[in-house]
Amino acid sequence: MTTLLSTSDVAKIVALQGPQQVFSSLLDYVLSDFLRWQEFDKSARVASHSATGVIELMPTADSDFYSFKYVNGHPGNPQSGLSTVMAFGALARVATGEPLLISELTLTTALRTAVTSALAARALARPGSRKMALIGNGAQSEFQALAFHYILGIDTLHVYDVDAGATRKLESNLASVPGLRVVRFGSTAEAVKGVDIVTTVTADKAYATILTPDMIEPGMHINAVGGDCPGKTELHADVMRAGPVFVEYEPQTRIEGDLQQMPADFPVTELWRVLTGQDAGRRRADEVTVFDSVGFALEDFSALRWLRDTAMRHGIGSRIEVAPRMADPKNLFGIVPAARTASPALVRG
Ligand code: NAD
Repeated sequence: MTTLLSTSDVAKIVALQGPQQVFSSLLDYVLSDFLRWQEFDKSARVASHSATGVIELMPTADSDFYSFKYVNGHPGNPQSGLSTVMAFGALARVATGEPLLISELTLTTALRTAVTSALAARALARPGSRKMALIGNGAQSEFQALAFHYILGIDTLHVYDVDAGATRKLESNLASVPGLRVVRFGSTAEAVKGVDIVTTVTADKAYATILTPDMIEPGMHINAVGGDCPGKTELHADVMRAGPVFVEYEPQTRIEGDLQQMPADFPVTELWRVLTGQDAGRRRADEVTVFDSVGFALEDFSALRWLRDTAMRHGIGSRIEVAPRMADPKNLFGIVPAARTASPALVRG
């Protein structure tokens, strides 16, 4: 039997554990997988583009488990009552191909993206960073805010969104978080003044320039999350030139990240090299560092492993039959007449 986790199931896990515990335990799974980078089958995700957005498949595997995620990105969706990003995925046993878990991954994507951003910032931002600007206050934003609060100790958030309603929603959702001060600004330029870290998590199917070089101060770490698809960027090219650029999986980020606007030989460093100590990351306190995040399959693999273990511990989820269990595995045909007697619903006209 396969475990099925709905969005309510995953929300229940987050509610039971609390975001601090969730971020800390999920971070352990993501970090441990980045540290064994060489053990994974890696490929850039397969994307199907349309005029309104993109639908992507993200597979990866190690010697024990195989996973994939289905995810979309449709920036116009909130106008018709749908999320910009929606996702689900599966975890299977490599040895047999048996599907172990099918799960929602919309809420989980927000969790794993925030954890990956915070993991990168913990390695790359100036030690002692306390102030972060959060540009784009949509579905991902509270998760980014809380992961940076709990993992890095960010205590002041400067927030801005072109949609004032989105900022009001964020303020209300974060109002009762102890030790986190949220300050609203009227523009990106004002919000980023004097901060240690800038997170851009906007959605627009356009070559946007949310951050321009005049906004960048020495020593800033830039966590660019929203430029994650061909034709969809957030950083001016000169912001990419302001300091070393770090990416998840270079072949994918060359196509999808803010990196897409740079020459093919523009140098970048994969994050796993910093996490394993093979690259120094930030070299000086006044250096600008850029994490050009697009989201990589390994992060979903880690998240699915974490979900499976955590759901099992809490007894959350349903068991569903997505692959047949038969006394004689060669008698697939036999399940049809058996179902006729077992389930009257199947024989009703
Ligand atoms: P969302 O639509 O819920 O929120 C996006 C917000 O950006 C909206 O509130 C919108 O008003 C705001 N915005 C758009 N243009 C802006 C601008 N010029 N200045 C300020 N705000 C602006 O989307 P979401 O689910 O929060 O996702 C945000 C982005 O993050 C999307 O582009 C998505 O594809 C991307 N994303 C990346 C990863 C990753 O791993 N890198 C993971 C998930 C989502």
